[in-house]
Amino acid sequence: MSVADRAIEAVDLVKTYGKGKREVHALAGVTFSVRPGIVFALLGPNGAGKSTTVKILTTLSAPDSGRAAVAGIDVRRDPGQIRRLIGYVSQKPTFDPVATGRENLVLQGRIHGASAAQARARAAELLDRFDLTAAAGRTAGTWSGGMQRKLDVAMGLMHRPRVLFLDEPTTGLDPEARMGMWAEIARLAREDGLTVLLTTHYLDEADHLAARLAIIDAGRVVASGTPDELKSALGGETVRVGLAAAPQAEQARHVIERLPGIAAVESEGTVVNARVADGAAALPGLLAALDAAMVELTTVSVARPSLDDVYLHHAGRTFASASLSPASLEGVAR
Ligand code: ADP
Ligand code: MG
Repeated sequence: MSVADRAIEAVDLVKTYGKGKREVHALAGVTFSVRPGIVFALLGPNGAGKSTTVKILTTLSAPDSGRAAVAGIDVRRDPGQIRRLIGYVSQKPTFDPVATGRENLVLQGRIHGASAAQARARAAELLDRFDLTAAAGRTAGTWSGGMQRKLDVAMGLMHRPRVLFLDEPTTGLDPEARMGMWAEIARLAREDGLTVLLTTHYLDEADHLAARLAIIDAGRVVASGTPDELKSALGGETVRVGLAAAPQAEQARHVIERLPGIAAVESEGTVVNARVADGAAALPGLLAALDAAMVELTTVSVARPSLDDVYLHHAGRTFASASLSPASLEGVAR
């Protein structure tokens, strides 16, 4: 890709918070690039470094080393120009709950230098687009969670940015509101040609929404590509075995590993995943071997590799367990 083909570029970003014993290596060399006009997801468990990366790309934080550019402009060289080009919707809500939806939008427009009339016109356009017109005169604090999140996104769009950063746009939303938000985000890229970088800790969100994604874990990009590329690269299918008791996992793993045609076996808790070329062909032998070893099963399934499998393969642990580790729980608070 030439510079003009990159809407966003991060090269070897390093960021450490705190000193001495309290030192946290938030980013340990993050590299990825995004071409214009697509939805790109930065997928990772809590504490992986997603918000830190976004803060650097949006000029809110400086990296210790490495380089970041948006629309070919280095974020350190011209932060003012970057801020005019981008919209940023932070993980935490930024709307004023005691102002109405319309007031929030108009104020945002005025902050960006629009006249009162321009700001009102743009606000009306966005209220309409996000289906918020009926509620626009009510204080935003009384809105539903899904409407509030849409308001945050609309605020980020007031000044017509070309590149939009959405930090966990659907966290905490109910399934219906999430679907609504997904549709809006997809439309921003498809119809308006915006480049959208979103962060998420939802595997299905990245899978559904992102043309390309980078999986970030412990401050590093461990894999990147289209969802299909990432899944296909693992090859074959995954046979997933649920066990009655966790202590049998080790035994089950050993039994499965010795079978012919098994590419890799990983276990965690009561679940053992085996990658095989052909799930249906491998299943009878696998079940017979586990039965002979007196391993008690509760469930068995065969599936194409999922992003969950992709993460497990590259990060060496399941996404669910990574999201519960102590370091990541710290990240949840932010
Ligand atoms: P994510 O957005 O993926 O959940 P973050 O980028 O917020 O992750 O955080 C990455 C790591 O850096 C976490 O361990 C987090 O606790 C730590 N961290 C983030 N911000 C700060 C800060 N201001 N001071 C100290 N540590 C921080
Ligand atoms: Mg975050």
